[in-house]
Amino acid sequence: MPSDCLFCKLVTREIPGDIVYEDEDVLAFNDISPQAPTHILIIPKQHVATVNDVPEEQASLFGTLVGCAKRLAIQRGIDASGYRLIMNCNGEGGQTVFHVHLHLLGGRQLTGLG
Ligand code: AMP
Ligand code: ZN
Repeated sequence: MPSDCLFCKLVTREIPGDIVYEDEDVLAFNDISPQAPTHILIIPKQHVATVNDVPEEQASLFGTLVGCAKRLAIQRGIDASGYRLIMNCNGEGGQTVFHVHLHLLGGRQLTGLG
């Protein structure tokens, strides 16, 4: 794990996070700067910097993250109304934290992707 990775530090509790779900493989926590009533980040516990760095053999990781997001959406009661899943990659994709994470956004009408 890179010692300067913010999300690894959330996994190890070196910094506090508003954790909403945890299991052996994933951690989910509320985004510190929420863009919607529900704005949760779902991350693999194992450090991987970007989508580009997930090997094809480990593509099931994405299914794990989406499955977790889907269950959280059901828990929050936003599954029927709708939600958005976003995974940003590198600079032009808008990624600012270089530990793969899936945004779960919902609870209001979301508009264009800008
Ligand atoms: P991205 O721009 O896709 O890399 O998203 C990074 C997200 O991490 C942003 O939505 C930030 O608000 C969020 N974030 C940054 N620091 C923290 C933190 N300590 N706890 C929770 N969310 C954070
Ligand atoms: Zn990390």
